[in-house]
Amino acid sequence: MKKTLYTLVALLFTQLTFAQDINKIITIKYVDRLIKTLSSDEMEGRGLYSPGIEKAASFIESEFKAIGLKPMEGETGFRQSFEIEGKPAFNVAGIIPGKSKAAELVIFSGHYDHLGIVKGDAQDSIANGADDDASGITAMIALAKYYKKLNNNERTLIFVAFTAEEIGGFGSKHFSKKLNPDHVVAMFNIEMIGKESKFGKNTAFITGFDKSDFGKILQKNLVGTEFTFHPDPYIRQNLFYRSDNATLAALGVPAHTISTDQIDTDAFYHTVKDEYSTLDTQNILATIKAIAKSAITIIKGTDTPSRIPRLIESHD
Ligand SMILES: [Zn+2]
Repeated sequence: MKKTLYTLVALLFTQLTFAQDINKIITIKYVDRLIKTLSSDEMEGRGLYSPGIEKAASFIESEFKAIGLKPMEGETGFRQSFEIEGKPAFNVAGIIPGKSKAAELVIFSGHYDHLGIVKGDAQDSIANGADDDASGITAMIALAKYYKKLNNNERTLIFVAFTAEEIGGFGSKHFSKKLNPDHVVAMFNIEMIGKESKFGKNTAFITGFDKSDFGKILQKNLVGTEFTFHPDPYIRQNLFYRSDNATLAALGVPAHTISTDQIDTDAFYHTVKDEYSTLDTQNILATIKAIAKSAITIIKGTDTPSRIPRLIESHD
């Protein structure tokens, strides 16, 4: 009896410290390795149909495998292949099955494609897309690692790297046909978190903030931490409709993008200067940890964001 109680206490203690120690699971070293690899010249700016994007997809697959993700239902691997005008394209997606509410889905996403080799300057022609959106993919992978270790998601978590965002969101459109959008409870799309936001250190903004209560739930979960989420301050830029969240949002999903980019003054945006050296890795790390904490009640199934009015009618 004494021994059993001791074992139980010890087990509880390890579980608690395990669950809480986000700092040990998502480290600066881990984040740095991911972002550095994804934005390296070797990936050639991850242009569509290039050897570089193939390398990026393989890298994401290997990280998913190392974390212990499973393929989505009906898929044999992480790669979700399809064609764009007869040419091969692929998303990379993996899941952590939910414990008691497996049919309810929560998506964490970013896009891994970028502009590839472009007309640059004399020194450089690779649009590395370090902020856009290697930073979002880094976050998505780090969140997968964290939640896998946490091992307490009641809902099923889907982690997806979309392709072809830059030429019209083809990856997210293909992905949205692979599941029933009515089963998707929330979507955390992450775009450009590599530099400090206009609200200062430890802040980020959420696009389409008023379209559902997703943002309010996230804010509530961050009360007492040093990090705060704000409504998108660049309403005239239409950011809500300019990323992969829009595809799912049109289908009624509370699908929002989280970003820290100062889009109105970002001189590196869509240029060869969007490089690893211009990023603030601490900003990326802090934002990832904030997203991890802010999503806790949604992955546990105790909070469910309100739906966004559906623009596209279901045909099934
Ligand atoms: Zn982007």
